[in-house]
Amino acid sequence: MVLSTVVCGSTNLAFELDHNHTNGTNVVTAKKEQSYNVRKEIALGWNKHTPCSLDIKEPEVNDELTGATEAYMADVLARYTDRWLERTKHNLGYQLNSDFNYDALGPLQRLSINNAGDPFIAGNYGVHSRDFEVGVLDWFARLWEINKNEYWGYVTSGGTEGNLHGLLIGREMFPDGILYASKEAHYSVFKVARMYRMNCVKVETLASGVIDCRDLKKCLLNNKDKPAIMNMAIGTTVKGAIDDIDLVVQTLEECGFPRNRFYIHCDAALFGLMLPFLNQAPHITFKKPIDSVCVSGHKFVGTPMPCGVQMIRIEHINALARTNVEYIATMDTTIMGSRNGQAPVFLWYALNRKGYNGLKKEVQNCLILARYLKDRLREAGVSVMLNELSNTVVFERPQDEEFIRYWQLSCQGNIAHVIVMPNMTKKTLDTFLDELVEERWIWFKDGKNQPPCVASDIGKENCVCPLHI
Ligand SMILES: *Cc1c(COP(=O)(O)O)cnc(C)c1O
Repeated sequence: MVLSTVVCGSTNLAFELDHNHTNGTNVVTAKKEQSYNVRKEIALGWNKHTPCSLDIKEPEVNDELTGATEAYMADVLARYTDRWLERTKHNLGYQLNSDFNYDALGPLQRLSINNAGDPFIAGNYGVHSRDFEVGVLDWFARLWEINKNEYWGYVTSGGTEGNLHGLLIGREMFPDGILYASKEAHYSVFKVARMYRMNCVKVETLASGVIDCRDLKKCLLNNKDKPAIMNMAIGTTVKGAIDDIDLVVQTLEECGFPRNRFYIHCDAALFGLMLPFLNQAPHITFKKPIDSVCVSGHKFVGTPMPCGVQMIRIEHINALARTNVEYIATMDTTIMGSRNGQAPVFLWYALNRKGYNGLKKEVQNCLILARYLKDRLREAGVSVMLNELSNTVVFERPQDEEFIRYWQLSCQGNIAHVIVMPNMTKKTLDTFLDELVEERWIWFKDGKNQPPCVASDIGKENCVCPLHI
């Protein structure tokens, strides 16, 4: 496995030497001691190679006798595991659920399980987990309301691969189609547009982060002669905003796009497993005129490796099913060649354990905690927004980059967010809130600094900067 410590040199050093953090002792002092407080500018050339502290070493000739390599590796792994555990505890900004236990699947590590090819066509390689894969897919088919004989799907490497697959089908069905995505859609959607050289129109969003259907209308009317390939953000990454499928379909109809002139892909990386469990929520359902849905497995469910699920209407798979690969004796209907055969087993295991009811409880808890966090931030005089049915609490960007890094807050411009995932506890959020309140007092005490204005990011009504208070 490649360990990517994607950080600048100095922070990298902190990672290595950071034993205080690891033990959880004196965390705040350890944090303050680092004078590092510069916003990371991501620019060309930033990804230059930095010295690596984990060079692979050739074993000594007498290594078997001394056991030096084993001992060295055990030491490194123990240190990193401590660090990873500590960092896992302080991840508030990234959509990962770390609350899982797959110990029962330990023996799988001795196997090379590979699901190359189409999940519904047995190939010649015998060590596969297609039965698990189809079990997982059937479970999602029920969730997203499509009959077993009407869907096609597979377990992917994550939400991005789902977008790559769904939008590829859209393009194969409509080679001259135009891709429409809101400007707050996930970055992978725009990467897809570049990779496939699709014409892509970025649609405006409202302050909440949802696609602005008035702007969509304008864009569609400008391109009436070309079919529409729509990307729906079912939960944007930054604001947790849910594009309204019904309103988009209505807009398409109003602009003169009949059903056979549009394709709708739903990017539901996180919310695909949340909305179905909320009674009040707009359901993700194939009863609506949608064509594909994808979700990530490592996000709401939580798995040790990135994975996801992609589901489409079965008739669409013919757009990709042109290639029969004799070599693997199956059809090349997926994006990847070899596919992770462990992932379907992990998903199968988690979904069996949790069931619809377990997930429902987790979703409800997340929303309760998200509301709690929002209320407490507001009480503390922090600009904050929480979309309805969302676990993504958006608020003013903290002034201290080390604070941001410590809590792993994901930031964009003047805003930051906390995503309340099932592994998060009220206690962790309280610690975070207490620290934030304490730090804010320091940042703003002499009046030289002022809380940033976030009216253009989350709306005037949510902004309590000096101008809008
Ligand atoms: C996380 C996310 C993705 C990408 O999913 P990966 O599993 O990280 O590839 C795509 N879309 C949205 C809306 C996301 O939040």
